Amino acid sequence: MSSTTKLLKQYIEEVVSCPEGHKRLWVFDFDDTLCRTDSKIYLVTADGTRRSLKPGEFASYVESPGERFDYSEFLSLINPRPIKWVNRVLRAVYDHHGGANITVLSARGFPGPIHEYLDIHGMPDVEVVTLGSSANETADVKAEWVTRRIEQGGYDSVVFLDDSVRNVEAAGRLERVRALRVIHNRIGESLRG
Ligand SMILES: [Mg+2]
Repeated sequence: MSSTTKLLKQYIEEVVSCPEGHKRLWVFDFDDTLCRTDSKIYLVTADGTRRSLKPGEFASYVESPGERFDYSEFLSLINPRPIKWVNRVLRAVYDHHGGANITVLSARGFPGPIHEYLDIHGMPDVEVVTLGSSANETADVKAEWVTRRIEQGGYDSVVFLDDSVRNVEAAGRLERVRALRVIHNRIGESLRG
């Protein structure tokens, strides 16, 4: 067995494990955590010009008066490419604990494409929550959602997986939350985290 395979096995065992009588929730981000797609965000300027923004550019972009973002490509699932090892983690959690204690938590504004993805992968009962948050507020909005969910659901702990450093840091500051950073193309780094 290669060292990465061994590390992944250990990682999955660790993420899946849950003490008897302990109530745990697993939270997965969607874009660039479970899946990469070709959906782009566009900036529409005051004179109607439309250009696509790279994710990094969008994250730090401050709109000028008259400008708006166009998220229409996020209404459908465009060329989904699952990040295989994270999907193995999701699958293992699902097989051990069922869909009821898993949430896919996304900054997207519309849950349809994520439901479609989960249906394709045979996990139609996994909850999808879309926050419709802008890039610079997502970390706080996700952390607030997790805090509320712990209170309302009476969870003893939460495992939170996300590719965004800001989201992982914000969630990781919360009590009872173990936040894990996913780097889709550097599996070893993510597993050693
Ligand atoms: Mg993401």
